[in-house]
Amino acid sequence: MKKHNFYAGPSILPQYTIEKSIEGIKDFAGTGLSILEISHRSKEFVACMNDTIALFRELLGIPEGYKVLFLGGGASMQFCMVPMNLMEKKAAYLNTGEWAGKALKEAKLFGEAVEVASSKEKLFNYIPKNYTVPADADYFHITTNNTIYGTEIKKDIDCSVPLVADMSSDIFSRPVDISKYALIYGGAQKNLAPAGVTFVIVKESVLGKVTRPLPSMLDYRVHIKGESMFNTPPVFAVFAAQQTLRWLKELGGVKAIQKKNIEKAAVLYNEIDRNKLFRATIADPEDRSLMNICWVMSDNYKELEKPFADFAKSKGMLGIEGHRSVGGFRASTYNALPQESVEALVSVMKEFESKN
Ligand SMILES: *Cc1c(COP(=O)(O)O)cnc(C)c1O
Repeated sequence: MKKHNFYAGPSILPQYTIEKSIEGIKDFAGTGLSILEISHRSKEFVACMNDTIALFRELLGIPEGYKVLFLGGGASMQFCMVPMNLMEKKAAYLNTGEWAGKALKEAKLFGEAVEVASSKEKLFNYIPKNYTVPADADYFHITTNNTIYGTEIKKDIDCSVPLVADMSSDIFSRPVDISKYALIYGGAQKNLAPAGVTFVIVKESVLGKVTRPLPSMLDYRVHIKGESMFNTPPVFAVFAAQQTLRWLKELGGVKAIQKKNIEKAAVLYNEIDRNKLFRATIADPEDRSLMNICWVMSDNYKELEKPFADFAKSKGMLGIEGHRSVGGFRASTYNALPQESVEALVSVMKEFESKN
């Protein structure tokens, strides 16, 4: 039976990436060695790193004055690295979920981190809209896609202070106006690569302003100077990212994939809204994530949660349980997920409705 991969992360990768990864594991770039056993200083890997960065820049339209870095440590490492490098006194945070809250917690270690707004009282089921960012904040931090709760800020917001965004789970899902941001970061394991590599897009002019001493490994300028090779980069994950970016370019880039993502999400949200057994947790279409679609059983059918989970699993739908902190269901519809998988899930939902 065909398996449909709705896991939130690590998550589905294009079949192209999987196949090219297998080839690279057997013989990387004609070296006769595996990508798993080759020096990161070899000319073949340096070429791979440079090409991956070039594709990254090209596909997102990253302007001059910005650097792209591939680091270790996950998006979670950026929760401390961002304030260490950018906050002298004060920073502002929008609290839209668990990851946003974790980022805010780390920032408090380095200065006055203020929460400008939070949707916590409503289980993070909307994106706060009316808030004021203090004019003296060194930066304003947002999480564009809230992987756990299924809300997303789908437009690049205007901000009077430098804007920092965690785009772990929606990078490359839509065109982004990079010039509106001072820094964008994310773990690559949601929409780009296997776990192990973290991307950072940083405007060089925002660096070098803080007075605190920075450990080398946590200083963006050190990694810029080292061209992401200050220490051993996650070689295999970077190689896999290169394959995904090639796949995306071939497909027509972020604009083309955005169109597909909108279509996929519409099919699933329409079924959740139509099906009497289910209710979407995010009511406002403007706030609904195109990457992580969350729903629960309707009030009259609560007892069918476990039976539906079992039924869906028996039909090859994998990874649709909601995050352990919220329950219910979540289907992640990242770039690599084919429309066919969404349609298969919708059929399962309809079939389950007709049986109940
Ligand atoms: C998954 C995720 C993280 C955590 O990423 P790690 O690489 O595991 O540290 C942070 N933010 C968002 C939005 C995520 O989806």
